[in-house]
Amino acid sequence: MNLKNGDLMPEHSYNFHHFMPADVWRWKMIESEIDQVLALYDYEEIRLSILQDFKIINRGISAPKDKFQTGEAVDDTLTLCAVDNDQSTISLRPEGTISVLDYAAQYLAEDELHRLYYHGPMFRKDPQGKPQEFYQLGVELLGGSSILSESEVISLGIRLCKSLGLGEVTLKLNNFGCKGCRQEFIKEMRKFLAECESELCVDCFAKLSVNPLERRRCEDPKCLQILSQGPKITDYLCDSCNADFVKLKKIQANLGHSYRMDPFLYKNFSYYNGTVFDFVLGQGDNEIIIGGGGRYDELSEQITGKSMPAVGFYLDMDTIFDILKQRSVYEPQNGTFAVYLFAESSSMDMMLLQITHELHALGVRTVFGINGDELSQQMQRAKRKGCSLLFAIRDQNIRDGKILLYNLIKEHQEYIPLSDISNAVLVARKAINNE
Ligand SMILES: [Zn+2]
Ligand SMILES: [Zn+2]
Repeated sequence: MNLKNGDLMPEHSYNFHHFMPADVWRWKMIESEIDQVLALYDYEEIRLSILQDFKIINRGISAPKDKFQTGEAVDDTLTLCAVDNDQSTISLRPEGTISVLDYAAQYLAEDELHRLYYHGPMFRKDPQGKPQEFYQLGVELLGGSSILSESEVISLGIRLCKSLGLGEVTLKLNNFGCKGCRQEFIKEMRKFLAECESELCVDCFAKLSVNPLERRRCEDPKCLQILSQGPKITDYLCDSCNADFVKLKKIQANLGHSYRMDPFLYKNFSYYNGTVFDFVLGQGDNEIIIGGGGRYDELSEQITGKSMPAVGFYLDMDTIFDILKQRSVYEPQNGTFAVYLFAESSSMDMMLLQITHELHALGVRTVFGINGDELSQQMQRAKRKGCSLLFAIRDQNIRDGKILLYNLIKEHQEYIPLSDISNAVLVARKAINNE
């Protein structure tokens, strides 16, 4: 979300993230919910550097080149934001999976299960070459080759979406098969592409020639129509891949997760094999993909050099944040009990700070007023800030050893001795919080 603050901030054309306090509050609530759900499934958070080794990332996302054995240039679905343009040795983090695998290669045992997650900003260039910042949650399960691992990860994704407040989330499934199944599919797909080269747009033809499993972003209805007639990967699954997939679908159905098969569910990254899935809201033209993932055993082997089967998913946190905000699922509240203080003049500043110091020691939140404003203005401001009590520090009263305490909830005022400030606040807090 861009910060748009009229005259104060120049509006810029980059999509960088700045969040104001109310939105930060929402983010923290959402992140706390995510942490709790992931802890239930025994996932641990890791924090990845924003700066990444360009070569390692590039090697991971260049997987299609090796995978489909073409001599053509790697597709530019994911364009890295290099920090040092001339040398391309450091890039801003474009996604997390490759970094997690690089970490696994160095530190993780291959005969164990590792459950990891991370969230935060990622950076890629848009089709016009402009850097874009977006927030993503990534969840990775390393070391599990069975259908159970895929089922766990998918179930976790659904649980997460539901817990966040997206109860209507559904699952879309496809399967990219193993190397064996894919070879046959790719052969048929190339044959098909050659036949309809003249009818497809240049972009579709070029992209699909490099990677037939890429998520097509073409909006030309003609391309979509032609491609819907083309080979479907699920028609080429070998017996073993097919049996596993049937089992996975059965488990998801038994868990009560409604799913739809989509043989044209493809991915921007070509590093997936086996089960691939999307988490979606709505249907048809109103469908929004809020996350997805799949198995990436081959990428894992390539990066880690170990036999470490892997499956994971991402959630598009920007989209999820916007939807939850629209639905007012997480609304900032005037949280904890607070005391508002102001001094009549700057000569009372020391007294103001001393009282505040005393209240902080009791764990009481304080809000400073603006010295010199009228009592009525101070009271309005205190209410806006969600304060329950107000202290007015005035020369005259202080000389008499007293201070004016106004209870904004009960709309009642009294003068209390300076020595009784802490006690009066604690008694009021107890009454207000029903402690
Ligand atoms: Zn297979
Ligand atoms: Zn097209």
